Amino acid sequence: MSHRTPIVGGNWKMNTDLASAVELADDIVAGCAAHQPHCDIAVFPPFPYLQAVGKTLGHAGILLGAQDVYHEANGAYTGEVSAEMLVDLNVQYVLCGHSERRHVIGETDEIINLKTQAALDASLCVILCVGETIEQREAGQTEAVNLRQLRAGLDGVPEEQMRQVVIAYEPVWAIGTGRTATADDAESVHRVLRAEVAELYGDEIAEATRIQYGGSVKASNAGELFSQPNIDGGLIGGASLKSEEFLSIVRAAAESDRLARK
Ligand code: PEP
Repeated sequence: MSHRTPIVGGNWKMNTDLASAVELADDIVAGCAAHQPHCDIAVFPPFPYLQAVGKTLGHAGILLGAQDVYHEANGAYTGEVSAEMLVDLNVQYVLCGHSERRHVIGETDEIINLKTQAALDASLCVILCVGETIEQREAGQTEAVNLRQLRAGLDGVPEEQMRQVVIAYEPVWAIGTGRTATADDAESVHRVLRAEVAELYGDEIAEATRIQYGGSVKASNAGELFSQPNIDGGLIGGASLKSEEFLSIVRAAAESDRLARK
């Protein structure tokens, strides 16, 4: 089995102001310099703070991510931000299909696929988020919904762009609710998602593709989740706004990676 470096992302959502965004980034840089965790780390500040946060991250090796992207390159799309604009700000990652964009803003699988393709074509890495609602889970549709979102999100994405893709399994009922999927429940969905990537792209790509878990991850539950064989780190919302909590989660990912390498 190929070894996958875990990746932990901090999705700051529509939180922070300029000063607190820079301070949070600064604290994360300092924490990583002190511990040098073996784990990829990305932060996703609000659009207006990307440049300042990027400057604060400097050359610390922490990845800069955007929470959204528009699929057109430029033109009369008031309020939207293109992949090229993000690249211009040294953004490396972008979230596509986050459940708040699916269920609050109303993005469809088709829009998410267009955004995914536009971001990949601009050489950005994409975290493609999938996840079922509580109603879908209770109706026994967990697997079908996640597979549909995965297939639709990756539609038209060629094999050679798959190394730019991270998948995040984020059950909607666990996001921002304090309710986390059990490690077994999360692992079983991750296993199904990886099998589908194998079906679409072959075993080698499936083994190399990182699949994060997201949904009320905290320092206290991160270790158990990340020790599952198919969980390669996490996408963190609320807990990423406190540097100490976020850094503990990063350390949990690095520790699970160290144990997996033994
Ligand atoms: C998220 O925003 O992707 C997320 C998982 O949020 P939280 O950790 O707050 O549930």
